[in-house]
Amino acid sequence: MATFTGKSAEDAGYHPLPDGVRYQRTSVTMGDWGGYPPPLRVKRTLFAFWDGTEIPGGVAEAALPAVRALDKIFERYNYRLDDEADDWCWNRRKIRGSKKAWSSHSWAAALDINAKRNPWSYRFKSDMPPNMIREIEELKTETGKPVWRWGGRFRYKTSEGKYRGKADAMHFEIACSPADIASGIAGTKPTQPKEEPMALQPHEQALLDHGFSSQATIRAWFQELLGRPPGPAGLEYWTGLLDSGQYTKAQVFTAIANSKEAKAYAKRKESEAGQ
Ligand SMILES: [Zn+2]
Repeated sequence: MATFTGKSAEDAGYHPLPDGVRYQRTSVTMGDWGGYPPPLRVKRTLFAFWDGTEIPGGVAEAALPAVRALDKIFERYNYRLDDEADDWCWNRRKIRGSKKAWSSHSWAAALDINAKRNPWSYRFKSDMPPNMIREIEELKTETGKPVWRWGGRFRYKTSEGKYRGKADAMHFEIACSPADIASGIAGTKPTQPKEEPMALQPHEQALLDHGFSSQATIRAWFQELLGRPPGPAGLEYWTGLLDSGQYTKAQVFTAIANSKEAKAYAKRKESEAGQ
């Protein structure tokens, strides 16, 4: 994949900003997203990009239609999240380099994508195709608000031709309120209703009801659904979701059961049984 470099995104050949899009980082009242300072907990939901890469800890539930629209554009450009574990969303922290201002990550309303290839730097560098970025920046809500702001623009040229700020090409943050997003994303299909957790088989229900520790539960589910024990990172991730209390056991179970690996394992088991 091509890498685009320059002093700023525009130097690297990125489309000039569409009319009406502004890039002040503070122009969004993030308070709309659950108060300021940010709440300790944000209602989040699991999200996997088109290539199957899951964002650790999920994304703000209210941001989901915006993330889906972003994902659709990634898919159209065949832009993949690489194998590095350098994609993030929720992180309750201040903006890097600031003592006061909270980062939009605190509300799980910002994504960092392929951080290693899209570094936070005084010299702009990105592997994201310029036309893909243009489409993302042109996304609007039905209320007419830009949906995303791209951190690649955080290093910019002033009218005097001076460069300011630090590029953050990995970073996309929501540029509008939850109400704007709820109005719909223009040009995309209405939000699909959330998938209902699938009906549980009796032996699955028994696992749910068993009252295991979260670690034992995840181990049992991995064995049952994937035919293998979880690795240390997987174990930590899934037990973390259970222990956070933000996901019910049934939701976590369904997420594992719906994974590509689980489906492949089920098929394998089926064909073995048929022999
Ligand atoms: Zn970021």
